[in-house]
Amino acid sequence: MALIVQKYGGTSVGNPERIKNVAKRVARFRAQGHQVVVVVSAMSGETNKLIALAKEISANPDPRELDQVCATGEQVTIGLLSMALKEIGVPARSYTGGQVKVLTDNTFTKARILSIDESNMRRDLDAGMIVVVAGFQGVDADGNVTTLGRGGSDTSGVALAAALKADECQIYTDVDGVYTTDPRVVPEARKLDTVTFEEMLEMASLGSKVLQIRSVEFAGKYKVKLRVLSSFQDEGEGTLITVEEDKNMEQPIISGIAFNRDEAKLTMLGVPDKPGIAYQILGAIAEANIDVDMIIQNVGHDGTTDFSFTVNRGDFAKAQGILEKVKAELGARQVTGDNKICKVSAVGVGMRSHPGVASKMFKALADEGINIQMISTSEIKISVVLDEKYLELAVRVLHRTFGLDQSI
Ligand code: ASP
Ligand code: MG
Repeated sequence: MALIVQKYGGTSVGNPERIKNVAKRVARFRAQGHQVVVVVSAMSGETNKLIALAKEISANPDPRELDQVCATGEQVTIGLLSMALKEIGVPARSYTGGQVKVLTDNTFTKARILSIDESNMRRDLDAGMIVVVAGFQGVDADGNVTTLGRGGSDTSGVALAAALKADECQIYTDVDGVYTTDPRVVPEARKLDTVTFEEMLEMASLGSKVLQIRSVEFAGKYKVKLRVLSSFQDEGEGTLITVEEDKNMEQPIISGIAFNRDEAKLTMLGVPDKPGIAYQILGAIAEANIDVDMIIQNVGHDGTTDFSFTVNRGDFAKAQGILEKVKAELGARQVTGDNKICKVSAVGVGMRSHPGVASKMFKALADEGINIQMISTSEIKISVVLDEKYLELAVRVLHRTFGLDQSI
């Protein structure tokens, strides 16, 4: 007998028929003798609707009240799923985050989980029940409803699995695992049987939407056995996210090609080349709560230098406004920007032991006449910033270059 936490995403509970199917799947696991805690998202599109509704009332909704509104989506699906389970003779009980309780800090709209009380869940599991928990939500020390950020149900699932020391956390979604890249861009993309936490973390932060990045951090930290599977298929092992690289197995050098269109680049030209410049520019950006990704500073000539960095596309206009002000203070020459860029990354732990990955990547792009605007690397990834119009081509070419369309 195992204790399994299963998380079902919005499309998996998108209508009554699908909710009934989830109930059947859960019932099958129970019939095999397993204890199951189910975490659900809101029905697909529901959270977007709730946010849109709030914005019709207030352009800038109060975060506490926004969480109050947004958390209702999951309250609907836990009730419906528990009913569906009872309809097929399976005892079940639903819990909101507050009822569990999932204690969080009070950073509304992106709260962090502090602790989880497992006593209610244990009692019900020991009584042979299925426990159904609302994803995405918790409660702060004062009893306020909080939410964990978009996609937060993944994190709820992993956190519950960690708290319960579950044997496995299964994330059911509309794809049957983690792919070498997005199959909508490269039809030859392959499902990976395993991927390491580090790789998954890079892929999630570089634009892969399969798992919320915090859920992967959590799983890595608490050593939760995490698996991504399809809720629309009965067969298949999905993708297992592993803690360790399998030393006995021949590692592919690159495991996946990730990409993100949501990027913009800003450059300050002719900045006086003296100490404190990076701080003055990026300090002002950080104060406005804008996340900076890649940073490049040229070697100065003639006492001045050029300074470039990337931000989320949504922050582009705001960042530009800030740079104009800083430019005046610094006596820099000009601020330029481009919000039609993308980032394409090759990710793989095999890079550590194989030199030459970067040059192989740059050659493949050069052969296609694709200009690289910026480069950044870590131990297990190489990212390039490109003109947005090259995104699909670059992803396809790199996928082929690193042999990802062939099974190994
Ligand atoms: N319903 C929330 C969202 O759409 C949480 C989740 O689905 O994970 O972001
Ligand atoms: Mg999701």
